[in-house]
Amino acid sequence: MKIEKNKVVTFHYVLSEQEGGVIEDSKNSDPMLYLHGHNNLMPALEVEMQDKQVGDSFKASLSPEQAYGVRDENAKQRVPIKHLMVKNPKKLKPGMAVKINTAQGAKDAVVLKVGKFNVDLDTNHPLAGKSLCFDVEVIDVREATGEEASHGHAHGVGGHQH
Ligand code: ZN
Repeated sequence: MKIEKNKVVTFHYVLSEQEGGVIEDSKNSDPMLYLHGHNNLMPALEVEMQDKQVGDSFKASLSPEQAYGVRDENAKQRVPIKHLMVKNPKKLKPGMAVKINTAQGAKDAVVLKVGKFNVDLDTNHPLAGKSLCFDVEVIDVREATGEEASHGHAHGVGGHQH
């Protein structure tokens, strides 16, 4: 079965920086599950997925624009420490990746400077400005259920569970 619109795809991936180290390896947890053709993946990766089958492995190289965007050097923000989602604020230090609790949900940022009550953050995504490489292995392809197709996402382990 080929990957096309309304197929649910299970895949493992290794995400690395181009000419750099491994950032994430999905084999450390459950494989990723998504519904093809509903903008659930980065568009450039979804294009590479099209027409692949179970057992196929491939590499997809993404420019920063195709991945997490280019860096915005003005994306700096001073935020009260209590707005960060961290277990131990005393351990905050420059260079650390954190999440800010915002009205729109968790937002990624990197600590620039730590003060007594506030931190200065670089609110670019930690992977902004980076060219990335996905090593993908297709594990399973199946028809979406009618419910999945109407919700626009896959259900099950690694997908939406509700
Ligand atoms: Zn759903």
